[in-house]
Order: sequence, then structure tokens, then C-alpha cells
Amino acid sequence: MAVLVYAENWDGRFKKSSFELVSYASRVAGMLNTTTTVLSLGNVEKSELEKLGRFGANKIINGVGENLDIFDSQAFCRVISDIAVKEAATVVVLSNNNTGKALAPRISVRLKAGIGAGVSKLPISINPFTVYKRAFSGNAFSHLTIRTDTRIITLAQNSFELIEKNAGATIEEVAIQLEGAKTRVKEVQKQSGKILLTDADIVVSGGRGMKSPDNWGPLVQLAELLGGATACSRPVSDEGWRGHEEHTGQTGKIIAPDLYIAIGISGATQHLAGVSSSKYIVAINNDKGAPIFEAAQFGIVGDAVKVLPKLVEAVKEIRA
Ligand SMILES: Cc1cc2nc3c(=O)[nH]c(=O)nc-3n(C[C@H](O)[C@H](O)[C@H](O)COP(=O)(O)OP(=O)(O)OC[C@H]3O[C@@H](n4cnc5c(N)ncnc54)[C@H](O)[C@@H]3O)c2cc1C
Repeated sequence: MAVLVYAENWDGRFKKSSFELVSYASRVAGMLNTTTTVLSLGNVEKSELEKLGRFGANKIINGVGENLDIFDSQAFCRVISDIAVKEAATVVVLSNNNTGKALAPRISVRLKAGIGAGVSKLPISINPFTVYKRAFSGNAFSHLTIRTDTRIITLAQNSFELIEKNAGATIEEVAIQLEGAKTRVKEVQKQSGKILLTDADIVVSGGRGMKSPDNWGPLVQLAELLGGATACSRPVSDEGWRGHEEHTGQTGKIIAPDLYIAIGISGATQHLAGVSSSKYIVAINNDKGAPIFEAAQFGIVGDAVKVLPKLVEAVKEIRA
């Protein structure tokens, strides 16, 4: 028996979120008195795989084979489900990111396993197996009891701390043949020169309080200086100030960066639905009663147009 984690890699590297998953799974394994197996698929160097071992993995399965660097939810689902059966996994842990959301329901059907999606804490009990998840854009929470022998969990990003624990992981290489793909990816064109919003650890975002698209220069500059991506509220993209690919919220992208800087954004529920899982929210708003300050850990009350250039200068100074 084991707790199985699918650790996604990005061009052969694991992000912090993968280590969070392993830390979480290792704690769940402790509660169930079992071990943690981590599955990685694709071309990942041994030194990178070893990093998974620092967070409590007992066994790392390195799945190698053709086309594993191109994500295919149907084919990957088959592989992860087969490994879950082989490892007698009682819990399968995935990230609640786009990949995890595409895989989890498919694996759930294949394994006839109950699913807890967007879980943000350790199970509150293991018998019955009950997990905690946020509901209604974080305004409420629910306890969900999963009654099947195998349980699928997607862990909300940034909801669990990294816990270093060297469990002396072994690395086992397994040849993977992707089968069951009903689609074939012929070409992948990656956006270059720009950090993808959904991948970014730091996001600098502007709302209607920015007043005009002409004021975006310092916001973009701040994002560049911090190595982050830019985002916006929906009215900003509706107005055509910024492209719709930047719009975050209930009807836009759902992100969970380490740092979300909300500038001239009121903090409407629909906006927060897409950003409330950020580890830290910093708000800049000239209205100290704006709801965004309730979601933010840090804030500056002031005129965005005046504050932003000063912030840019301060970051430049620190970096120099
Ligand atoms: C079904 C539905 C779905 C929606 N989905 C989304 C969604 O996905 N994403 C989303 O963002 N919205 C969404 N909305 C819209 C949402 O309800 C809000 O209207 C929107 O988020 C407000 O955007 P905003 O904060 O940029 O603008 P505003 O609400 O106009 O707020 C502007 C803020 O800027 C501040 N401000 C003004 N001037 C300055 C200044 N000079 N310096 C600093 N601060 C200043 C103001 O105090 C205010 O707090 C949705 C609405 C509905 C009904």
C-alpha cells in the first residue's frame, strides 16, 4: 500500500508545487501508516529526481519513454492509473492545477475512486477519510468524506508548506509506452520571452483604478524587474486595455502565485475567485475601505499612478 503522488515537471524541472505535493502526501502516508511513492513522467535528470526525496518520498518512479514531454490527459491517465494499481495506492495526490484537473476525474473513473478536488489541508480524519476544501470562492469550507478504498486528491496550490524529510528514497526507472491517446499533438509552440501567467510565481495585476492603458508602463516594468507575469481584472480586458489572456477571476484564469500584487483592483468576489489561493497578496488602492485589503496581507493606500513609479525605483535600488 502507498500514497502515490504524480509530480509534474516543466521542461525537466520540478517546481515548488511538486515538492508541496510530496510533503503533503508524505504526511498523509504517515497518517495512514504507509509509504509515499512519487511518479515522474518524462525526461528528468537524476539530480532533479533526487530533490523529490528531500520531502519525504520513499520511492521515486521515473517513467521514461517517447512523447512523455507532451501532456496528453487520456494517455497519462492510463499510465498513472496503472501505476496506482501496481503500487496498491490507497490515495493518489495530484496538483489542483490545469494538469491535475484534467487527470483527476479521469483517474477517478478508471479506478472507481472518490475524488476530493481543491483540498487545502491534511485530512481531518482517516476513518472515515474526510478532507477539507474551500467552497464559494473561499467564503466557506466543506468537509468531504470519501468512502471508496482508493481516494483521489487534488491539492490546492500554495495551501501546504514544504516539509523537509529525507526518507532515503529509492529511484526506479520504468519504461512507459503511451497508449490510448485519441489525439496526436503535432506541434507545440511555446510562448517565448514572456512568463506564462499560470506558471508565474509573481504576478503584477492592474484594475480599473489604473485609469488608462497609458499608465501600464510602470506596472509592466515592475513585473519584469520581479521576474513575474502581468494580469488584470475583467473590466480592464473588456475595455481592451489589456488582452483577455491576462484576465484573472471566476471567468478568467485561476492562479496561485507566491505573490500577487493587485493595483487599482477593488477585490470583487469574482476577481478573488481567481487569485485568493496566492500565498501573499499585496494591494495598492486609494480607497482604504476597498475589499481587496481584506484579502491582502500587505497594502499601500495611495494613488497607483504615483505609487507605482516609486515602487519601480525602490526595486531597482534593491536589485542594484
Ligand atoms: C458573472 C460575473 C463574473 C465576473 N468575473 C470576473 C472575473 O473573472 N474577474 C474580474 O476581475 N471580475 C469579474 N467580474 C466583475 C467583478 O464583479 C468586478 O466588477 C470587477 O472585478 C471590478 O474590477 P476592478 O476592481 O478593476 O474595477 P473597480 O471595481 O472599478 O475597482 C477599481 C478600484 O480601483 C481603486 N482606484 C481608483 N482609482 C485609483 C487610483 N488612482 N489608485 C489606486 N486605486 C484606485 C478604487 O478604489 C477601486 O477599488 C465578474 C462579474 C460577474 C457578474
